[in-house]
Amino acid sequence: MRHSVNTAALRKSFSRVYIEEAALSHDKTARILSNLPDVTPVTVKDYKHVFNRPGQNAALQKQAPALILAVKKPPYLYAGAPVCQSFGEAHFTYTSCAMNCPYDCEYCYLQGMYPSGDVVLYVNTEDIFAEVRRVLKEHPLYLCISFDTDLTALEPVTGYLKDWAGLAAEEPGLTLEVRTKCASYDSVAVLPVLRNMIFAYTLSPDAVIRAFEHRTPSLERRLAAVKQAIHDGRQVRLCFDPMLHIPDFAEVYGTFFDQVFSEIDAEAIRDASVGTFRIGADYLKRMRKVRPSEISYYPYTLSDGVYQYSPAENTTMLRLAREKLLAYLPSDKLFFWEEMT
Ligand code: SF4
Repeated sequence: MRHSVNTAALRKSFSRVYIEEAALSHDKTARILSNLPDVTPVTVKDYKHVFNRPGQNAALQKQAPALILAVKKPPYLYAGAPVCQSFGEAHFTYTSCAMNCPYDCEYCYLQGMYPSGDVVLYVNTEDIFAEVRRVLKEHPLYLCISFDTDLTALEPVTGYLKDWAGLAAEEPGLTLEVRTKCASYDSVAVLPVLRNMIFAYTLSPDAVIRAFEHRTPSLERRLAAVKQAIHDGRQVRLCFDPMLHIPDFAEVYGTFFDQVFSEIDAEAIRDASVGTFRIGADYLKRMRKVRPSEISYYPYTLSDGVYQYSPAENTTMLRLAREKLLAYLPSDKLFFWEEMT
């Protein structure tokens, strides 16, 4: 039987908690600890002494990550990376109020980005919010808040989504994207329904979930969460990204797209994004060291510092996705990441 991360599992997993000295007296620290009543936190001078310490086994740490509470230093906002889908947004930006994720996807670029599998939560979200408000005085902002983590999965411990929803309710120039694989809808259900808060559910065929997206919910459970979000009138995006070049790819993904839209009302979703697996060259190099696998050692093609499938593979995969999805969605609701095709 496969186990996905639920609230109880999350609390159990975070049985080891480190707190950076500067974060000790912060109100978010108190809130997070109140959600983890059984832990005895350890104070550290600088979170990097734990997170960046040499000789860590990030793959092992992912099995039961520790939680590290820290204070983030500027910058608080980042321009979206070229490998990210920007949805045509002029001010496509992301922020990190957490590093790492309770899930364990074999293809996750975070394994190549961070030296540790532990989860860091930045407690000074008010500093990020202040920067968002400052930028909003200059122009609207499209902000991805759940890129380097899964904030929805962490919500029972952090309450951060609620804070972000409060900010979005006050700032109409702000559009938030919350990327998630989390199927537990309880944390989302209590949030206000906002036109400027997009819940972007990443969906994959069950064969991919079972093989590569460890500790994540099944497709059936994710679709149930999507249906609830739609029922509540939320802005819902479906993310078919990353598509993986698995054996029987055409059959598996063809059946998958049909299954998704046999259950989801295509007219009720805001849009959908599609992309094949790609990763920065430096990240893949590190990923091969920490997690040698059929994903990390696939014979990718290197183009402009990004490893991706060959042009022929990309074309085949994206053509299938386009043909299938256009049967359900108009082209202006479909966003493809297709650098090389
Ligand atoms: S859900 Fe996303 S952030 Fe979390 S492990 Fe999987 S790919 Fe990485």
